Amino acid sequence: MARNPSPRHAPPPTRAVRTLKALRTEIARWRGEGLKVALVPTMGALHAGHLELVRLAKRKADRAVVSIFVNPTQFAPHEDLARYPRDEAGDRRKLAGVGADLVWTPSVAIMYPEGFATTVQPRGAALPLEGEFRPHHFAGVATVCCKLFNQVAPDVAIFGEKDFQQLAVIRQTARDLDLDLTIVGAPTVREKDGLALSSRNAYLSAEERVVAPALNRALREAAAAIAKGADPETATRNAADAVLAAGFARIDYLTARDAATLAPLDPKAGRKGRLLAAAHLGRTRLIDNIAC
Ligand code: AMP
Repeated sequence: MARNPSPRHAPPPTRAVRTLKALRTEIARWRGEGLKVALVPTMGALHAGHLELVRLAKRKADRAVVSIFVNPTQFAPHEDLARYPRDEAGDRRKLAGVGADLVWTPSVAIMYPEGFATTVQPRGAALPLEGEFRPHHFAGVATVCCKLFNQVAPDVAIFGEKDFQQLAVIRQTARDLDLDLTIVGAPTVREKDGLALSSRNAYLSAEERVVAPALNRALREAAAAIAKGADPETATRNAADAVLAAGFARIDYLTARDAATLAPLDPKAGRKGRLLAAAHLGRTRLIDNIAC
């Protein structure tokens, strides 16, 4: 009989390593066995969207490492760093359920020791949209991702399309800096009503949660209108009106872009388009995007 039968059939939480030495020892052992390694960078408070990334990682490689690090340098002083949800024990149990092999949870002191003075500053895809509203955000993201790539040395790194611009920026960084890994994007996991899963959804009140799917609904309506030949500018203006009418307080952007460069979409150019939006609902800033 199992000595600890409760909870039934639950695997033990995925093992966490907290020092660079322990991480590198484990990775070197796998490398010695000829195994392929995937990395899934996260900030924790994991939900079904993150777990899909891990499942994809396990299909792309033999071992999946999940990093959990709430990266202070990608938050502006007025943003939600202090209240960002944290639940390492819960995360490690969830990760065990999808077969993650190792959790890398460095401290801020390990990532940014005293005297740390180097930043990766992406331009190009990092400049518009989030780059305008969160000017230091993508330097924080690109820097921490480069560090994570150097620490884990993965063959593959998995990122969600939920943060579509982030995925574009990381692809650009990997290309520009000749990083020796493949960046893989994974589709956005949503609630039944269309709301994209996000750790920040936990901030929404019951009333706001009812309003929140209006953002995705408006994007879908705009994409359908553009597919029928509507001008992207009119379609996105109508979508913005619908989002505000539903109860959002303010929109940072709701726009049709070239999916590769994030430059404004030229409908005649015959290139893949993407609708991207960021909007405020109460104290919570939600982002979403879909193909158009
Ligand atoms: P975060 O912990 O929010 O920094 O996200 C870690 C990774 O999970 C990023 O690559 C996100 O794009 C991805 N992610 C977050 N939410 C979702 C979702 N709803 N569906 C798919 N991927 C997601």
